[in-house]
Amino acid sequence: MACRRCARVWPMGQARCDRCGSRLLSRDTKSLQKVWAWWIAGVIAYIPANIYPMLMTNTLVSSTESTIVGGAVEIARYGSYGVAAIILIASVLIPVGKFLAIAFLAITAQRGTNVAPRSRTHLFEIVEFIGRWSMIDVFVVAILSSLVQLSVVASIRPGPAALTFAISVICTMLSAQAFDSRLIWDAVRRDKPRKTP
Ligand SMILES: [Zn+2]
Repeated sequence: MACRRCARVWPMGQARCDRCGSRLLSRDTKSLQKVWAWWIAGVIAYIPANIYPMLMTNTLVSSTESTIVGGAVEIARYGSYGVAAIILIASVLIPVGKFLAIAFLAITAQRGTNVAPRSRTHLFEIVEFIGRWSMIDVFVVAILSSLVQLSVVASIRPGPAALTFAISVICTMLSAQAFDSRLIWDAVRRDKPRKTP
């Protein structure tokens, strides 16, 4: 097994790395616990992200607050269906899909399912890849508010939902990162060793 700090390889069973003194661990035994802890934190943070306003728009005559879904509906009403679709995909479809995918991976790993390990590994890779693009909504709010701040007659400020949405995305990313994809293959190896030429 390799030392996590200095990458020197040691035989199995050795407790500490003789080179750098770091503790040797072949596996993170609390992987699934960490996955669930971050997952629950992410789901909790996602609730206020949908209830509280994402954008607070102030003009000379009126001030409006819009949530994620409400904002997308409003944008669609003005005819920008593409932008509305991007917002809905980035802030509803992808986060919810990620929650479901991570929960599915963690549950099947916990139960030791050996069904379709290849597809599940692929699913995990997709979840990890999507992680870095999940902040689109926060970027949109940041760009909008900085652009509109420049004008005197109107201002757009990010609402509390922008913060909790960002927290939710970060928690989900950490949840996916805590998942050890080798867990998917444990059950498979136990059942039938793969033939090597
Ligand atoms: Zn070391």
